[in-house]
Amino acid sequence: MKYARPGLPAFSQEVLRKWKNEVKLQRKVQCPNQGCCSVYTSVSGLKAHLGLCNKGDFEAGKYRCLICNKEFNSESGVKYHINSVHSQVKAHLSNRSL
Ligand SMILES: [Zn+2]
Ligand SMILES: [Zn+2]
Repeated sequence: MKYARPGLPAFSQEVLRKWKNEVKLQRKVQCPNQGCCSVYTSVSGLKAHLGLCNKGDFEAGKYRCLICNKEFNSESGVKYHINSVHSQVKAHLSNRSL
């Protein structure tokens, strides 16, 4: 694997507590991002959604090329990058390091 997959975004304890409370009281929690109406019945569902939701600050990490640390929004993007940019670099690097 020459690239890193994004993880889930990090949430503060405060925000998590608020969401858990909402689920407890209303049995649902809404995506906090403006303009997004997604509603979930569990905090884990909301968390998973926020990793994909592009309407707010809770952005998940990006796909990152481990060779040059460049970031990509999609897995196909980083794969294409590695294949096109780094396909010959490997041999080049191992020659140089010896
Ligand atoms: Zn959303
Ligand atoms: Zn790269």
